Amino acid sequence: SHLINQIAAGEVVERPASAIKELLENSLDAGATQIDIDVEQGGVKRIRVRDNGRGISKEDLPLALSRHATSKIASLDDLEHVLSFGFRGEALPSIASISRLTLSSREEGAEQAWQLQGSGQESFDDPEPCSHAVGTTIDVRDLFFNVPARRKFLKTEKTEFRHLEDVVKKVALSRFETGFTLRHNQKTVLNLRPATTIEMAERRVSEICGPAFTEQSIRVEHEGAELRLTGWIGLPTFSRSQADLQYFYVNHRIVKDRVVTHAVRQAYQDVLYHGRHPAYVLFLDIDPAKVDVNAHPTKHEVRFRESSLVHGFLYRSLHRTLADIRP
Ligand code: ADP
Ligand code: MG
Repeated sequence: SHLINQIAAGEVVERPASAIKELLENSLDAGATQIDIDVEQGGVKRIRVRDNGRGISKEDLPLALSRHATSKIASLDDLEHVLSFGFRGEALPSIASISRLTLSSREEGAEQAWQLQGSGQESFDDPEPCSHAVGTTIDVRDLFFNVPARRKFLKTEKTEFRHLEDVVKKVALSRFETGFTLRHNQKTVLNLRPATTIEMAERRVSEICGPAFTEQSIRVEHEGAELRLTGWIGLPTFSRSQADLQYFYVNHRIVKDRVVTHAVRQAYQDVLYHGRHPAYVLFLDIDPAKVDVNAHPTKHEVRFRESSLVHGFLYRSLHRTLADIRP
């Protein structure tokens, strides 16, 4: 069907950063509260993601690496209501087909952990026993080892790592309750503890966006009838180049959307008479039935069912917050 083709086409691993995005979303879908990431040579040599989520049973290990074997959706009708990130059953098989992959996991309640290896083939040997706490580790080595054309387009180790780190940061901002560590070539780059209070969340924002942002931004917290907006918006004194510090999440999913961008900018300019684009880290919680998140699975786009209502809510919330601090 067209829908299935669309979904499949959207799923392309083009660089280490796209692989890590899928792996992290799977770990979060599995309810992980701690995710440890180890990367070598920008992710090309190795990406290892270890989580303490609910794990995968021995029987399901081969399924996890087979096409369209998502456990997260029962029928296409469910697509509309999917809350989890993954719903396509494409990511792991795609990654497995272009790398040397080892999947190790122990399911909640299982006595034993099991491991499965693949290296570019469609079929796998039987799972073997291994040692692993409840949760899952996916070890992806030699990305694109069998796709020279793709390998040729990879940038330097530094650039690939920067893209990968950006993804980790975006994801870490979407889940304050989950701890993240990131190591590159044995060196710790990020160590983000689970944040359960505003203060701890602010510390994480500071680690990810820099202390200048948290010092020169104000807290946003507004509740509407069925909408909630929280986060931070930068003050005019915050002078980092604009475009790279605009994080907007809808129901924990990062999003780029014209309705959002316009509402935020309009409120900012109307109150502060300031020509520049504001920096922000904002979270909108909305009834999932009122938003299409799967219109473009990899493009971070959403479609609000009632976009003028959302626009109005964002504009009013930010207008009120900013008006309080107008000089
Ligand atoms: P999708 O996320 O779209 O379902 P994936 O290819 O990303 O498809 O993953 C396939 C399946 O493997 C998932 O549906 C899930 O059941 C299982 N899986 C993958 N990663 C994990 C993980 N970290 N913890 C538990 N289960 C996982
Ligand atoms: Mg997935």
